[in-house]
Formats: sequence, C-alpha cells, structure tokens
Amino acid sequence: MQQGDRPNIPTSLLINGEIVEGQGKSETIVNPFTGGTIGEVPEASSEQVDAAVAAARSAFKGWSQRTPGDRSSILLQLADVIERHAAEFVRLEALNCGKPAHIVAAEDLPATVDVIRFFAGAARCMSASAAGEYMAGYTSMVRRDAVGVIGSIVPWNYPIMMAAWKFAPALAAGNTVVLKPSEQTPLTALLLAKLAGDVLPPGVLNIVTGRGESVGERLVNHEQVDMVSLTGDVATGKKILTAASRSIKRTHLELGGKAPVIVFDDADLNSVVEGLRTFGYFNAGQDCTAACRIYAGPKIYDNLVADLSSAVASISYGKAEDSANEIPPMISERQRDRVASFVERAAQLKHTEVTTGGQVGSGNGFFYQPTVVAGALQEDEIVRREVFGPVVSVTRFDDPDQAVAWANDSNYGLASSIWTSDIGRAMATSARMRYGCTWVNCHFMLCNEMPHGGLKQSGYGKDMSMYSLEDYTAVRHVMIKH
Ligand code: NAD
Repeated sequence: MQQGDRPNIPTSLLINGEIVEGQGKSETIVNPFTGGTIGEVPEASSEQVDAAVAAARSAFKGWSQRTPGDRSSILLQLADVIERHAAEFVRLEALNCGKPAHIVAAEDLPATVDVIRFFAGAARCMSASAAGEYMAGYTSMVRRDAVGVIGSIVPWNYPIMMAAWKFAPALAAGNTVVLKPSEQTPLTALLLAKLAGDVLPPGVLNIVTGRGESVGERLVNHEQVDMVSLTGDVATGKKILTAASRSIKRTHLELGGKAPVIVFDDADLNSVVEGLRTFGYFNAGQDCTAACRIYAGPKIYDNLVADLSSAVASISYGKAEDSANEIPPMISERQRDRVASFVERAAQLKHTEVTTGGQVGSGNGFFYQPTVVAGALQEDEIVRREVFGPVVSVTRFDDPDQAVAWANDSNYGLASSIWTSDIGRAMATSARMRYGCTWVNCHFMLCNEMPHGGLKQSGYGKDMSMYSLEDYTAVRHVMIKH
C-alpha cells in the first residue's frame, strides 16, 4: 500500500448487540510497514462506555445462568465465524501492525480460533471439590461462579489473539465483557464487533475503542465493572491497581517481560542459535516472552556470539513480497525511536559490542535492524529494561550459580529458558527459576492447555488453560444444615 491509500476498514463499536459509531475523539490509524495513514477510528464517548457497561450488566444474569453446554456451543459458533472470515482478519491485522500476512495466517489466526474452542470445551469441564460433611450435621460444597462484568484491556502486539485470550475464558465462565483494544490497533477487534453481534446475545460482549486515559480509565473506574483484566505495560498495571483499589475490583494483570536465556557450555550450539534467531526476534521482539537476555557459559560464549550474529544478520524484513518477510516493523515511530535509543546508549559503553544491526531500517516504515549487543553486563540498562524490539543482549557467565542469580535478578518474572544437554541440570535449574514459565532447550512454545502468566512485576493471573477459567470465577462456599 502506498502512503495516502485509504483501504476499507471497520470503524464501529459493538454495544448491547448494536453496531454504533464512536462519538468521541478520532484516532488516526497508521500502517507501520509504510508509515502511511490507514484511516480514522472514533473512540467511544464516556456515555458509550457507560452504555456498554450497563449492557454487560443487564446481560449478566441471563448469560451466567445458561448451562456451560449452551455457552460452549455459542463460543464454538463464534470460533467458526472468525475462521470463516480468517482472510479478512489477516488482512486487517497485517495492515494495522505491519505484520507479514503469511505469519498472521499461520500463527495468530489459528491460535485465536483455537483458544476460543479450548475455552468452549473447558467451560463444560469446570468442577470444584466434592461436597462433604466437614462439620457434623452440615454438608458443604464449593461453587465456582462467574465474577460479573469484566473490563478487558488489550495491547497492540498481537491484537486479535490477546483479545481472545481475555474474552474467551471470561465468557466461558459466564461473565459478560466490555473489551477495549489498543487505540493503535483496533481494526481486528472492530471486525469482531461486526460479526459477534450475530452470534452472541446482546450485551454479552461489548467492544469499545479508545485511548487508555479516556476510555480505559472510564472502564476501570466504573462502579459496575467487577474485574479488570489487562495485558500491557507495568506502569499501566500500576495505574489499574490504583483505580481498582477504590472499589476493591478484582484484577488480572499480564504485564511486561525480560526473558533470561541461560546457555550452558554443554548446550547444542546450532539449536541455541536457531532458537534465538526465531524467538528473540519473532514479531520483531515485540513480545513479552522474547528471548532477549542471554547468559552464555565461558566455553560457548564466543561461538554463540559469532554464530548468532551471522544468523540474525540474515533475518529478512521490509520486502515488498510478503512471503519474504520474517518480522514486522516496530508498531510506531515512537516505539522505533525508543528501541534505537536503548541501543545507542548500550553501544556507548566500553565493554559492549553491537555485533550486528544497531541502526534504524531504511524506508518510511518503522523498521529497526535485528540487533545483537555482546559483552553486556548485568547492571547495564540493555540487560535490565524491557526494550520490546529486535534486540538481544549476550552476557558471559563463569559460574552456573551466578547465571541463575543473574537470571532471577530482575523485576520481571514472566518467561525464561535453559539450554543444556544434561537433563539433571535442566531439572535442577528450572526448579530455581523465578518465572511463570521455564522452557528447556526451546523457548516461546505456548499451548492453550498450559498456563501463561508472570511472577513479580510481570503481574499475576493466568491466560490460557483451566487456570485462566478459574481466574474468571469466584469460589463460593454453600453450607446446608441437615
Ligand atoms: P500499554 O500498557 O501502553 O497499553 C495496553 C492497553 O492498556 C491499551 O489498550 C491501552 O489503551 C490501555 N491503557 C493504557 N493506559 C491505561 C489506563 N490508565 N487505564 C486503562 N487502560 C489503559 O501497553 P502496550 O504498549 O499496548 O503493550 C506493550 C506492553 O504490553 C509491553 O510492556 C509488554 O510486555 C506487555 N505485554 C505483556 C504480555 C503478557 O502476556 N504478559 C503480552 C503482551 C504484551
């Protein structure tokens, strides 16, 4: 697409089953691949946010009282509708994020459909402990009931998949939802808004666009919202916790990451290099689990830096032919400049070496070259702060205990990996990692049956898996006197 082209895009919100135009300020939507404007999307007005919450509140009784089987069958229909419109979802996601369309088609869309199908099945499998007589003359049972109205707030890095990670477990458990996509990437959520109204009863899922400080804050401060679920930045998580404290709302927070990767000397070098080339740079590193903070043993360090640097130099991006591209640009000019400034500061240090990349990409798109910063030290900013770009640091360690201590020495606690050919070392080391996930001899492998979520400032609450379904329920005790 050339700058100035205005493709056909959805712009309307879904409130109480109706498709309505936003009445708030317009947001300009940009294609990061070209830097050109795609169109304008108006955000919801305060009154429209209130109407969406009111619709979710009034739909709650009916939806929560449906049988799990009913809810499951409706969610399966929604998954089918998304699958039937996959090509349109792919087109809009690729346009709005600058992602290679072939990757969205192969990864994001199937994962979105599958997570909805997973929770459709999970809804029917939820159970609590068996009833029992824990006091003589009384029978106790535990119920897991829906929490109520959920405000779901979504980031820009995998817009439709992150939306589904949030609304699918919430709806499966019997809650109703008001979902807000990122103001930068609302297009696939707005396509969902067009389609979902034909499948879901009115008010069960409402979709409102807008900025964090207007629509987001209105939603998280709303008295009729019972729980807020966010995937986003740590700073946003803190704001949401402050807002939630006013009315003691439940919160579910998936925040940032800075995944450590410990490469022991006995690791298979080719597998490590292949894994890091793929999972350090997938989605151009705009991924909270990106394998970005490498700790390499003293014997493997030099070969790892050399082989990784030449492998990373071959990552293909910014080509006119979609299938030739492996990674997208940065989501915005601002994000690209932020990434560039991290690398500039790291490159100025005497002990570091930028062994590949280190520059803004050419053209009008917001590209940044895939980059390796070798020789980084534990206290360096590039090792400690989330860059959220195609930048991997490599730090040499001498002692395995030091590697584990450095890996754990982070405010983040989402994902990590260990690379070794010694199964005993893998087991012992993974037990010591303070991360929500530790992969061994792989990285970034997510499946809907397994939980994803953090420790420390990466937040709490799980996405995917039965644990996520449980997070969207309240445990209740019912006691019956004989
Ligand atoms: P962000 O926090 O800026 O925005 C996320 C969402 O929060 C957006 O919809 C935004 O409009 C909204 N928001 C912002 N301020 C708000 C406020 N005061 N009240 C209510 N809503 C508000 O994050 P981003 O830049 O869109 O996404 C990148 C961040 O997300 C990174 O830090 C990344 O690590 C994190 N992330 C985490 C995970 C995970 O699973 N842990 C997954 C993807 C992204």
